[in-house]
Amino acid sequence: MHNHAAILTIDLAALTANWRMLAQRSAPGECAAVVKANAYGLGIETAVPALAKAGCRTFFVAHLSEAIRVRAAAPDADIFVLNGLSAGQMEAYTAHRLAPVLGSMPEIEAFLAASNANPGIPAPALHVDTGMNRLGLRPDVARDFIAQGGLARLKPGLVMSHFVSAETPDDPVTATQIATMTSVVAHMESHSQRPRVSLCNSSGLFLDIAPTYHLCRPGYALYGGNPTPGKPNPMQPVIRLESSIVQIHTVLKGERVGYNGNFLATRDSRIATISCGYADGFPRNAGAKPGEPGGIAILAGREVPFAGNVSMDLITLDITDVPEGSVKPGDLATLIGDSLDIDRVGASGKTSGYEILTNLGQRYQRIYVQPE
Ligand SMILES: *Cc1c(COP(=O)(O)O)cnc(C)c1O
Repeated sequence: MHNHAAILTIDLAALTANWRMLAQRSAPGECAAVVKANAYGLGIETAVPALAKAGCRTFFVAHLSEAIRVRAAAPDADIFVLNGLSAGQMEAYTAHRLAPVLGSMPEIEAFLAASNANPGIPAPALHVDTGMNRLGLRPDVARDFIAQGGLARLKPGLVMSHFVSAETPDDPVTATQIATMTSVVAHMESHSQRPRVSLCNSSGLFLDIAPTYHLCRPGYALYGGNPTPGKPNPMQPVIRLESSIVQIHTVLKGERVGYNGNFLATRDSRIATISCGYADGFPRNAGAKPGEPGGIAILAGREVPFAGNVSMDLITLDITDVPEGSVKPGDLATLIGDSLDIDRVGASGKTSGYEILTNLGQRYQRIYVQPE
């Protein structure tokens, strides 16, 4: 077991339980799964079959390369590619039965021009930008497109938009986005077009004011992230990260630990050095500076603070308050798990839980807990 310094346990039973819970919230609409960025770091090849087996029929990814992997893992699923269609990709979309999410008039025209030669391509999605100003047709452009019979020509399988800050329920942009989407839907209906509609991401599914429409698109909450920051996390944790102690040693009062000596011992201290670092995706910003607390680990049932900088392959922990003899080299420290949920770990590294997930390292031993 010591070929790997750290162990990442991925609980596929918790993943599918989270999907079922979100599917209930999506009802009577459908619940998809967003599995971009290698299923938020968990691994497409394991997460997608587990979700498909639980009943998930629709997947979203960002890139064509990811979509091809999802197709191999879920032969019958509907797969949407959020970042859309680039020149020369039509054949691959058709061959793998992938649906592009189209978000600009040139992209739509290119799709329509190429779809004659590729009649097997699945119906695309149309992305309407209700405020993110990132991807999608501006609402006025979408209205013109609808008024000119564009939907009848394009025949989208889905019309979608994306929330700017659904995780902060008080942000007024959310109500504006909902109003814009409502008016686009009414405009489509007034032109006798009733494509399926999708709006909610994870946090959107927990907003009382957000309509769930026909399809919801959670990502983060599936993987155990808290869709309701500041409130108790309704999701089950999916990942646990543990790393073994390489050495324990004593530093004397006045000595320093790690690069740049950012930990100064204000008393004789015991330091445990564990085998995980920023090369494993653990944020370097979780390093502790004087007067600025950083990351936390759990050892012998106790939370212990990082001592100084996070190195490439190592983290030093101040275990002075852990009773001597209760930990030894080879023992595992928990970096993610129990009281250290991914939101808290993200905050301690001055980033988000999303980034903790998508940066999960490549040299962990990965253990998958299978659903019953
Ligand atoms: C990433 C993404 C999602 C999923 O968002 P979460 O906050 O992870 O639930 C949904 N829709 C779009 C367009 C996305 O880019």
